Amino acid sequence: MSSFIELKNVKKYYRMGEVIIKAVDGIDFEINKGEFVVIVGPSGAGKTTVLNILGGMDSCSEGSIMVDGVDISEFNKKELTNYRRDDVGFVFQFYNLIQNLTAVENVELASQICKNPLEADVVLCEVGLGERLLNFPAQLSGGEQQRVSIARALAKNPKLLLCDEPTGALDYNTGKAILKLLQDTCRENGMTVIVITHNSAITPMADRVIKIKNGKVSGMTVNENPISVETIEW
Ligand code: ATP
Repeated sequence: MSSFIELKNVKKYYRMGEVIIKAVDGIDFEINKGEFVVIVGPSGAGKTTVLNILGGMDSCSEGSIMVDGVDISEFNKKELTNYRRDDVGFVFQFYNLIQNLTAVENVELASQICKNPLEADVVLCEVGLGERLLNFPAQLSGGEQQRVSIARALAKNPKLLLCDEPTGALDYNTGKAILKLLQDTCRENGMTVIVITHNSAITPMADRVIKIKNGKVSGMTVNENPISVETIEW
């Protein structure tokens, strides 16, 4: 069976005057469909750059990136825009909600331009915000705002959910609840979920752990029996 995602010798270089910055310097990894994947590594290792390339937010300098049987590194600008819009959900550390729109309007705004959108109110109910559809972001806690941003990503009905430090701005219990929501989304919907974190304590909840250092994969672990985040203490 071929992998759902396969990166081969992916490189991303930035030129700053005379200096070449090797943000990603030959990354290879494979991910199966429906896996919950955690990417860890020190600051500046290249984690966000890899996620951005995988999500079509940036292009690579070299290498191939197969996603669901298609090499997205060969996409032209329009194909990359369509891929990013229709196939990938993004969740960031900061929720980036539009302040003068309600929760349901924030989700609708993002999903209505996609190919296969889900109903915004249904997805908000699924993330536990059924009672808060008409609240504005300022009326919601940080954890609730992150749930809206997860709903916004899921309402696109994406193939792939990419999360860059999704708990970075949250306290311990709220962060745990958000990780539980992401893990449940993966388990219940069979969605492939990739989470970047600095918190290596959560790695036992992942099916696969990818360690990145100096723009390269420095280690990869496959957990045969990943555990629920609820049972992890840190
Ligand atoms: P952190 O955990 O601190 O978020 P990271 O592992 O996500 O770090 P990246 O953000 O991917 O690391 O950055 C990898 C390297 O590439 C860093 O040295 C960074 O300064 C550099 N870099 C990233 N984006 C650019 C850019 N647009 N121009 C120049 N250099 C960049």
